Amino acid sequence: MSILLLEDDPAIADTVAFALRREGFAVEHRAWLAEARERLRAGPAPALLILDIGLPDGHGLDLCRELRAGPLKHLPVIVLSARSEEMDRVLGLELGADDYLAKPFSPRELVARVRALLRRAQASPAPSAGFVVDGARVWLDGTLLNLTKLELGLLLKLLAAPQRIHARDALLDAVWGSSADSGDRTVDTHIKTLRAKLRDAAPARDPIKTHRGLGYSLEP
Ligand code: CA
Repeated sequence: MSILLLEDDPAIADTVAFALRREGFAVEHRAWLAEARERLRAGPAPALLILDIGLPDGHGLDLCRELRAGPLKHLPVIVLSARSEEMDRVLGLELGADDYLAKPFSPRELVARVRALLRRAQASPAPSAGFVVDGARVWLDGTLLNLTKLELGLLLKLLAAPQRIHARDALLDAVWGSSADSGDRTVDTHIKTLRAKLRDAAPARDPIKTHRGLGYSLEP
């Protein structure tokens, strides 16, 4: 799982990155607000953001506020601050940070917070079997699916009318738009990767059915 670390103090960044990598996380480090903004715009989204407040080109909490107003509003954020005043903590949580650590902190404590937050972020909003949709996030049997935009589009289209057979060109139109110059094969390719992800989440289900010559349906 990938974690974006925005911290301008090289010693702290090294310590944190080392502690996280040792636990199996992939860590991307940025020292400037502008670099982190660029990285988040370019995608793919990390699983979690660790955000220092005092940065050379601005205030970390500004980024936090921007994220909460955009498509990454669900990205889990842990804020790091050199100041341990209650004011910072309250401000951080009010601006949408999910957790807060005052420097100096132990790397172990941070790793524990990261794990707890990721667990919380991936828990389904409702503990139910089958599909749960919340905006752009979809869970299957309580597991958050890590879908591409196109896979998500296909799945939402199929979920909107379960048990109905959707022709490939109808799916193509709905998900890629009528201007798409891609063919039926494109749909098949993305259905295939989508199926693999559903199988990882719920091996026994295999809810997408192929109707030869007709298209696909979803049997919830
Ligand atoms: Ca700093």
